[in-house]
Amino acid sequence: MNLSMYDIITKKKRAQELTTEEIDFVVKGFTDGTIPDYQMSAFLMAVVLNKMNKRETFDLTNSMVSTGDILDLSRIKNITADKHSTGGVGDKTSLIVGPIVASAGVALAKMSGRGLGHTGGTLDKLEAIPGFQIELPEEEFINQVNKVGMSIISQSKELAPADKKMYALRDVTATVDNISLIASSIMSKKLAAGAKVIVLDVKCGSGAFMKSLEDAKALAKEMVDIGKSAGRKMYALLSDMNQPLGTYVGNRLEVYEAVKTLKGEGTKDLEESCIMLSALILMGAGIAANLEDAKAICTEKLANGEALKVFKAFVEAQHGDTSFTDDLEGYISEPERIEVFAGKEGFVSAIDTESIGMASLHLGGGRVKKEDDINPHVGLKINVKVGDKVDKNTSLATMFVAKESKVEMAKETILKAYSISDEQVKALKHFYGFMDETEYHEF
Ligand code: URA
Repeated sequence: MNLSMYDIITKKKRAQELTTEEIDFVVKGFTDGTIPDYQMSAFLMAVVLNKMNKRETFDLTNSMVSTGDILDLSRIKNITADKHSTGGVGDKTSLIVGPIVASAGVALAKMSGRGLGHTGGTLDKLEAIPGFQIELPEEEFINQVNKVGMSIISQSKELAPADKKMYALRDVTATVDNISLIASSIMSKKLAAGAKVIVLDVKCGSGAFMKSLEDAKALAKEMVDIGKSAGRKMYALLSDMNQPLGTYVGNRLEVYEAVKTLKGEGTKDLEESCIMLSALILMGAGIAANLEDAKAICTEKLANGEALKVFKAFVEAQHGDTSFTDDLEGYISEPERIEVFAGKEGFVSAIDTESIGMASLHLGGGRVKKEDDINPHVGLKINVKVGDKVDKNTSLATMFVAKESKVEMAKETILKAYSISDEQVKALKHFYGFMDETEYHEF
């Protein structure tokens, strides 16, 4: 049958269900340039307004996967796992979760991305380690995973190129915020990356895409269902992003905190998040039968130093210098530090987390455009969190600044990000629950 983009847009405009062939026609045609941006924009808007059902969303994901390469991880001996965070501020969990699960016998073979806007990217953090190479030939990547249990590299192959093109268009046509489009965008890249076990960290709150728990749950369910239908073992953790995760924001500072956590000296919220994500991976890999056993294994791997050992082996394998792990204070000693004082008394009632990410960006630690340079040294130490009592002289945050930092702008942004109230406020939960392939489990 001859398909026409005009007819397909019309069908979605009338909220009708599209066939597998129609969806494939749209994705392939847009990727190869035969469908122009203006028709695709109209189509995306029709999807945002009239939605896609589960079957359509699964078909959309599969079509997007089929536009590019699919990584072949079959030469990796241990069961392969991948984790994905929907984006956050201060989220350095991959640097900790990778070593924990690798020390428990799971292979973490991960292709990662750079940060944009208020969120940081794992590759930028890894490049803050002297000498660290983020580009490895595929053969070396696979050999390294077999040897040390993990590798994180930049995307060398074209994984789901349809997504890159579609996302660029969604970004400028107000069509990002639709669950089918977000789920297919994330899952097309994850399915193409080849791992058998996929654990998603779905963030919810002021620093996340999904501001409410209900929306975050719906997105998690959609992604878990897609992965399950594609034959992958899926879990999703629903975690809080109403304040930064852990204490530090900024590339070197986050590596510093990750190593501290691997040494057992991290903050509780970050350590718990990493143990929870790692435990879900171990369950997915069939290494533990239930969450409690899985958490006990992960806690042990942190406490006995095995995870730290894997981290060092991973950094060395990617040509990084691990000597900084023995002089962590020296590693972050370069920038000047400036405190941002509360200037009033009360309790921290909310932190606009996206603004905290923007403050780090003003200091030079993030990018507005993909091509922007970042300074790995700068960033923030978050000194108080929601529920903490402050007075005029309490430092809300410490800025780690460099020559190019827009210090006043960052300071203003931090002060605006903090809400301070007279009434005592409860500390926030770190996570709300997790989803397996059948149901949601509330904590
Ligand atoms: N992250 C993605 O990769 N895609 C989206 O659509 C939203 C967040």
